[in-house]
Amino acid sequence: MQPTRYQITPLDPHAHLFEVRCTVDDPDPAGQRFRLPAWIPGSYLVREFARQFIDVRSESGDGPVALHKEAKDTWRAAPARGPLTLVARVYAFDLSVRTAYLDATRAYFNGPSVFLCPHGRAEAPCTLDIVAPEGAAYEQWRVATTLATDGAPTHGFGRYRAEDYDTLIDHPVEIGDFALASFAAGGAHHEIALTGRHDADLERLARDLARLCQWQIDFFGDVPQSRAPFDRYLFQITCVGEGYGGLEHRSSTSLLCKRDELPMRGREEITDDYLHFLGLASHEYFHAWNVKRIKPAAFVPYDLAREGYTRQLWAFEGITSYYDDLALVRCGLIDPARYLELLGQAISNVLRTPGRHVQSIAEASFDAWIKFYRQDENSPNAGISYYAKGSLVALALDLALRKSARGSLDAVMRILWDRYGRSGVGVPEGVVAQIASEVAGSDMQPFFDRFVDGTEDPPLASLLDAFGVDWHLRATSGASDRGGKPVQGVAPACWFGAKIGSDQALQHVFSDGPAERAGLAARDVLVALDGLRASTDTMNALLARRGPGERIRVHAFRRDELLDVDVELVAAPLDTCYLTLRGDVAPPALALRSAWLTGA
Ligand SMILES: [Zn+2]
Repeated sequence: MQPTRYQITPLDPHAHLFEVRCTVDDPDPAGQRFRLPAWIPGSYLVREFARQFIDVRSESGDGPVALHKEAKDTWRAAPARGPLTLVARVYAFDLSVRTAYLDATRAYFNGPSVFLCPHGRAEAPCTLDIVAPEGAAYEQWRVATTLATDGAPTHGFGRYRAEDYDTLIDHPVEIGDFALASFAAGGAHHEIALTGRHDADLERLARDLARLCQWQIDFFGDVPQSRAPFDRYLFQITCVGEGYGGLEHRSSTSLLCKRDELPMRGREEITDDYLHFLGLASHEYFHAWNVKRIKPAAFVPYDLAREGYTRQLWAFEGITSYYDDLALVRCGLIDPARYLELLGQAISNVLRTPGRHVQSIAEASFDAWIKFYRQDENSPNAGISYYAKGSLVALALDLALRKSARGSLDAVMRILWDRYGRSGVGVPEGVVAQIASEVAGSDMQPFFDRFVDGTEDPPLASLLDAFGVDWHLRATSGASDRGGKPVQGVAPACWFGAKIGSDQALQHVFSDGPAERAGLAARDVLVALDGLRASTDTMNALLARRGPGERIRVHAFRRDELLDVDVELVAAPLDTCYLTLRGDVAPPALALRSAWLTGA
């Protein structure tokens, strides 16, 4: 098959417009159709990328060709002699890792949001010409991508290639005057391209990422010759004042972080901010195996025109969320106490979500398209994150396998890699439970029935106990209390039952809590508490001084109407967890704990 030829040009950075061309040399004689994906793998929401396409037209060697729009994402050219080119301008001003961005500081794009797929040609090889923007202001711009070059110099503009459309759109491209660093791990050349104003210690970042990446390569690798399943890997990092996000690809990841999360020069410790960044990098890198190569059957191949339903996202996002932080302790970047703090935060996050008893993580996976990516004021009451609870189910499964069977989740992951990841065969629904049973040497289906398809909390306190880790619960001490540590300051005795923003508006009103029972609702704005101006301090003082059963008189606005209600407080729930390493541990528990935290 003739290659499909693409060209992209940062046409007008100030107007945020790319020009994208897609050329077919031998178009369908009945009229060539072109379609744009509606979603991007890794972010499970139909995003209708075609809405940013403007001024779409087609032309051939004979001149303009009539173009008919058939559906929201589909165009059909009139029968024409090849080569047939569809030309579009694409508005790109989304500062996220999912679509495309262009201004005078940088250009960035993900294939699904800019490259049309000619009907019947998904398997055809592709070439991509990346054209430099015109103007002296852009002379320093370079290109960072792991697309294979087809003549373009290293980091240069020019021609790149991909074996098929799916490959083309799984290699995002960063263009600009970015900083570069590199390191080797698992026989693969790794690069970091860092965009945005920063004063980060790039050498330190490369050193820490090298350690983390090598651990992950060894985890899945063939001992003693562990090799990465790619020759090159790219961390595309954009740092900003406020922002967070990551998206995985087969040989790269796009990360959006706060510049304060990058390591500072001259500082050796790992700050909480930097740890947050390392967790994100670890998460996306682990996806190079778990979801980019070990894929749910529903994604083989991806149908990017419509939702791809699977009840297994928890296994791809939850298990990855479990290993992202675990990798940091196992590779030695943090110590076990620091890891337990992260785990305590993850547990607290789930314990504070009443929706975990309403929706299972299998259901949450299936409904990601309409729920997880479309959260609203009622989300904490109605559902649970397949990331957050999924990571705890992964922890429980790992500990249960280690405790009873001398197996582990590590063994499950390696079997998934051997049977599905290496070959690219999709993982059918239910197979993770089967493999867990195989590793356990006993039927693990009841575990999955209760914690994956059911809404029970996994028994982490008792499992961790067998590993010499003590589980503690306490009340939340305030809005900034993420858990993971003993109480800081005075914990309030009472609970109001709502999450309150700094603007005193109720963000979430929790099911069957005091605020809901009193008739308060999300978006109500607190005005006064017991006759005093509402503020975080006023609320904290009242909750600390009052006892369960006592009342607070609340004035609040709903829209522009004043409400006057009495809220009857209840005892503060013990929804915040911290974990500690037990000092005097019996040798069997110590052996289990050591094997879990070192991966030995
Ligand atoms: Zn993920």
